[in-house]
Amino acid sequence: MFSYRHAFHAGNHADVLKHTALIAVLKHLTTKDTPLTVVDTHAGAGLYRLDSEQTGLSGEAGEGIVKLVTSLDAAQAVPAVKDYLDLVASFNKPGELRVYPGSPFVTHSLLRQEARDKLRLFELHPADSRALAGHVAQMEAGRQVTLKREDGFEGLKALLPPPARRALVLIDPSYEIKNDYGKVPACLQDSLRRFATGTYFVWYPVIPRPEAHELPRRLKTLSNQVGKPWLHATLSIGQSEAKTTIIPGEPPPRPGLTASGVFVINPPHTLKPALQQALPQLVEALGRGRGKGHVLESS
Ligand code: SAM
Repeated sequence: MFSYRHAFHAGNHADVLKHTALIAVLKHLTTKDTPLTVVDTHAGAGLYRLDSEQTGLSGEAGEGIVKLVTSLDAAQAVPAVKDYLDLVASFNKPGELRVYPGSPFVTHSLLRQEARDKLRLFELHPADSRALAGHVAQMEAGRQVTLKREDGFEGLKALLPPPARRALVLIDPSYEIKNDYGKVPACLQDSLRRFATGTYFVWYPVIPRPEAHELPRRLKTLSNQVGKPWLHATLSIGQSEAKTTIIPGEPPPRPGLTASGVFVINPPHTLKPALQQALPQLVEALGRGRGKGHVLESS
């Protein structure tokens, strides 16, 4: 159950899509004065060293944030991509890219102390929740940010509806257990019953597995049934054109994740135009070969 560690994947193309879209959502939600509660049900470790043993081993950031920074002329970046690059840069010294902010830090960067916005984090992995606790302590955010080492699907229930009736819920499981594909729609169904006007943001991997394939379909059906608008976006970097070395007697290396998606219920009206510009730019910068592309659809 605890084999997934986000550090191996931090800053990959899936994080690029997720965090670019997350920033675009938060930028809109923080324009109103009313306090916003953000619940991050699967928070991860919070901050990642891109030069650590874990991130270095898989090199996934090399096909994500590192490639984006090196292949895109920053002056050409469309607003949503620029916001993302600026936010990542704010965690690093000028000209360096050593630290990658996970969703708790992406979110915290955009929350407003004066508006009494809140961030509620859940992380179940013992080591990652310990690391996250240490990173959160560095935020010196006081009661604005709380962390629980609990199941985020369950913990969310007690937080809805939030006091000021404005919330963004980020649901970003690792899907290492098949159950997560069923838990996501069940959690959304329950959450929408508790708090129908919240914005719900789900990330999922696009992989050849029936449950993964069905997830966006199930989420569309669910949203349509309760009469809530939705937006669905995917980013595919396509197959690597690099030759893989087959070692006789050993199984061929797995291709790794090439695409992922985000599904947002009650999206801000600004999200679609922001992604309409951002997705082609991300494909252009990160696309590798056969299968590269994006999807952007909404109700
Ligand atoms: N949201 C993070 C980000 O964008 O930086 C990445 C999260 S990672 C994809 C998923 C995390 O969920 C892992 O750190 C894993 O340990 C944790 N996790 C798995 N099942 C969980 C559960 N039921 N409740 C809370 N955390 C869980």
